[in-house]
Amino acid sequence: MTTTDPDCLFCKIVAGEVPAELVGESATAIAFRDIAPKAPVHALVVTREHHPDVSALAASDPALLADLVSLADEVASDLSDGQYRMIFNCGPKAGQTVFHVHAHVLSGTHLAGF
Ligand code: C5P
Repeated sequence: MTTTDPDCLFCKIVAGEVPAELVGESATAIAFRDIAPKAPVHALVVTREHHPDVSALAASDPALLADLVSLADEVASDLSDGQYRMIFNCGPKAGQTVFHVHAHVLSGTHLAGF
């Protein structure tokens, strides 16, 4: 597994080559605001290493996935009241458009159930 992909947008954000509004970081992951927010708080939490999606990450490094979830939880507490929806889109049919694992963290309002 390579740890970065030179063509990956989120690898470029991790490297500081593409700007993003950072809202949290850990040794293994960073969090930044989504440029097209779907809730008052909408952050993306991404691993520093390149992994294509949550399925690949869960299979190859479950401890790293736990780190990512931990940072997502921290960000939701920092930016809101600690109540949040976390979504991983996995695969194009699920709506994934950036193939670097990321959690969407949505918070700051009452989200409708589904
Ligand atoms: O799950 P999916 O792959 O569709 O999510 C990608 C997300 O990355 C989108 O919500 C999009 O708004 C966000 N994005 C971003 N900054 C960019 C490009 C995309 O926050 N420069």
